[in-house]
Amino acid sequence: MEIITGITSMQNRTRELRAAGRRIGFIPTMGYLHEGHLSLVREARGRADVIIMSIFVNPAQFGPGEDFERYPRDMERDKILAEAAGTDIIFAPSAEEMYPRGFLTTVSVDRITRVMCGKSRPGHFDGVTTVCMKLFQIVRPHIAVFGRKDYQQSLVIRTMVKDLDLDLEIITAPIVREADGLAMSSRNKYLSADERERALRLSASLREAEAAIRRGERRGEAVVAAIRKRIEGHGVTIDYIAVSDPLTLEPVAVIGDHVLIAVAVYVGKTRLIDNLLIETNPGE
Ligand code: AMP
Repeated sequence: MEIITGITSMQNRTRELRAAGRRIGFIPTMGYLHEGHLSLVREARGRADVIIMSIFVNPAQFGPGEDFERYPRDMERDKILAEAAGTDIIFAPSAEEMYPRGFLTTVSVDRITRVMCGKSRPGHFDGVTTVCMKLFQIVRPHIAVFGRKDYQQSLVIRTMVKDLDLDLEIITAPIVREADGLAMSSRNKYLSADERERALRLSASLREAEAAIRRGERRGEAVVAAIRKRIEGHGVTIDYIAVSDPLTLEPVAVIGDHVLIAVAVYVGKTRLIDNLLIETNPGE
C-alpha cells in the first residue's frame, strides 16, 4: 500500500492510473478507522480496480468549540486496517497542504444544508463540500463511496456532484452497527461505559419508530414525540429529531412511501447521530 501526502504527487499518480485504464474507487474519511469505513472499501472493491482512501481530519468542517483538536487520530493503526481491507493508496495530506495561506474558495450547497445537522453546525457542510470538491479534483475517482450513517452528508455530496456536473458516481453504503445496535463512529471512543449504554437509546428509538410505522402510524409529529420520550433525559440531550422527506429533508406531517428518521443527540459532551430510511410500501 502506498502513502501519499502531497497533492501534486497524488495528482500525478491518478493521472498514471487513468492513463493505464484503471478504474479508481475513492473513500474519503477522517481516519480512526472502524468497520463502517472498511465496509466502504469493500463496497468500492467490487466496483473499481484501484482503491484510494483519504485520511484527513478536515478543520473546515469543525465549528469553533467543536472537537477538531481532540478528534481521535491513529495513522499507524489506520494503515494496517486500510491495507487489510484492500486499500491500495492512502492520501493523507496535512492541513497546510490542503488549505495553504491565501485559500479563499468555498463550495456551498443551499437549502438541504440548512436543516438537521446544518442548523446546529453552521458552516459544517460548506467545509464538507469544499474538501470533497478538492479531494475529487486531486484523486479524480470514477466512483466515491459514502456511508448512510451520514445520510445528510451523502445527499449534499450527491447534489453537489449533480449540480456541478462532476464526472463521478456517488455510491451510498449501509450503516454498520455494533452487535447491540450502536452505529459505529470514531466518536464512540469518547463515551464512558455508562454513556455508551445510554447511547443505545438512539438506535433503539429508531427501531421502535420503525415498528410503530409498520403498525400503521403515519403522523410525523407522533413519531417525533415517541422518539423524544424514549431518548431524552439521564445525561442525553436532543439536538434534533427529524421525520423528513428523504430527498428534500423537509419535515413530513403525514408519512408517505419513503421516510427518513434522523436523530442527533449529545451523550454527555459527545455528539452522536443515527438514522433509518424506511420504505412503508416495500414491493408495491
Ligand atoms: P468519517 O471518517 O466519520 O468522516 O466517515 C467517513 C465515511 O465513513 C463517511 O462516508 C461516513 O458516512 C462513513 N461511515 C462512518 N461511520 C459509518 C458506519 N457506521 N457505517 C457506514 N458508514 C460509515
